[in-house]
Amino acid sequence: MKINFENFRSPSQQKEIEDLLKVYGSIIPSYVKTLNVVNWDDSDGENRDYASMKYEPKYLEANLNIYNRFFSNKEQVKKLTIIHELLHIHVGRISSLVRDDVIKYVATKNEDLSIFMDRSYIGLEEEFVEHFANFILDRS
Ligand SMILES: [Zn+2]
Repeated sequence: MKINFENFRSPSQQKEIEDLLKVYGSIIPSYVKTLNVVNWDDSDGENRDYASMKYEPKYLEANLNIYNRFFSNKEQVKKLTIIHELLHIHVGRISSLVRDDVIKYVATKNEDLSIFMDRSYIGLEEEFVEHFANFILDRS
């Protein structure tokens, strides 16, 4: 797997992520051929997340976004955040099937139902990923 780092404000912050990926990178499924890690300054946006993950099954690529506020967290929160985001890749194909195919189709028939289904799906995925992220962190 190839890892690309982009836009990091300092070499030490990039190294922090590199070190976390050395420990937890084996969570990434083998079908991911490229991991793009991008540091974003989104301080003026509404987003309060520390990081986010976008898996692109078509391109065998995963995009890990690290927001600047990530770096002001304690070590345990940083570890949990990285594990959490890497676990999202595992449900990426299911998520793509449910949200991009099924729920988008439902939206053409019943908009309100599709909104409810999408919110429910996101909640369930977050709960699942967070549960296993804590499980892994407790044992590492
Ligand atoms: Zn999440």
